[in-house]
Amino acid sequence: MMPATRADNSMRPLSGRHALVTGGARGIGASIARALLEQGASVSLLGRNRHALDEAVADMSAAGDVAGFAADVADPDSVAAAFAAAASRGTIDILVNNAGQAHSAPFLKTDARLWRDMLSVNLEGTFLCTQAALPGMLDKGWGRIVNIASTAGLTGYAYVSAYCAAKHGVIGLTRSLALELATKGITVNAVCPGYTDTDMVKDTVANIVQKTARSPEQARAELTAGNPQKRLVAPEEVANAVVWLCLPQSAAMNGQAIAVAGGEVM
Ligand code: NAP
Repeated sequence: MMPATRADNSMRPLSGRHALVTGGARGIGASIARALLEQGASVSLLGRNRHALDEAVADMSAAGDVAGFAADVADPDSVAAAFAAAASRGTIDILVNNAGQAHSAPFLKTDARLWRDMLSVNLEGTFLCTQAALPGMLDKGWGRIVNIASTAGLTGYAYVSAYCAAKHGVIGLTRSLALELATKGITVNAVCPGYTDTDMVKDTVANIVQKTARSPEQARAELTAGNPQKRLVAPEEVANAVVWLCLPQSAAMNGQAIAVAGGEVM
């Protein structure tokens, strides 16, 4: 990595910082990765799909120094190997735990497998990646951890009890770790999007259409009805909040769970 100059630091305040974004090849994660590159950070993308990672790296490389690492955040060995490889590009200063999945089912149809899948990808994945990145941040005495939770981490929604439980867990982990690291130069925050325009929402719309015989327009309208702005959030709007939390001047922001949802929760 190139050393940061003074000009870089004022124009691109994350110059010299290495950020790792899980689930960074598409959706909200890809927007976050692009926004971090624009602020001067070098970025490592992590996801399961090697082809998607290669495409994202090719797409983003004009914006800065970016590389992709294949891993399943729910698999401890896979996380350890990917973080060791990513750390060869420099200590991970910024960790964005964004990888996630949202499957829905009525509670009595939520079997043990769905329950475990939601907890392991959304909550345990955050735990594993944070444990992998934290020692380097502690050595440097500087770090930013941003967990992409959800409004489903702040309030309940019917038919997604496992996802909601996992995202509430992510916020509990965020608050607890923020206190534990408060004197170490490391901040830990959560960003909580409402329904955001990505593949995840496309899948949710398809699922509603299939299960309820509503049209795609009706299904989409149902999702946006809860947002006072009556629209989906744009991935770039979530990325903007994440980047702000990573800036040097955001050091007093700690332990917060910030909704990016047009006022859906307050
Ligand atoms: P998305 O478009 O479905 O993308 C999900 C990303 O996570 C992909 O890059 C995927 O990559 C990665 N991923 C999923 N499972 C993984 C695993 N086991 N290991 C590693 N990577 C994994 O979803 P999104 O909408 O961008 O969501 C991003 C985050 O925002 C999630 O945590 C989600 O819960 C949260 N969120 C989304 C919304 C929304 O409405 N879209 C609202 C609130 C919160 P691979 O498939 O290549 O592994």
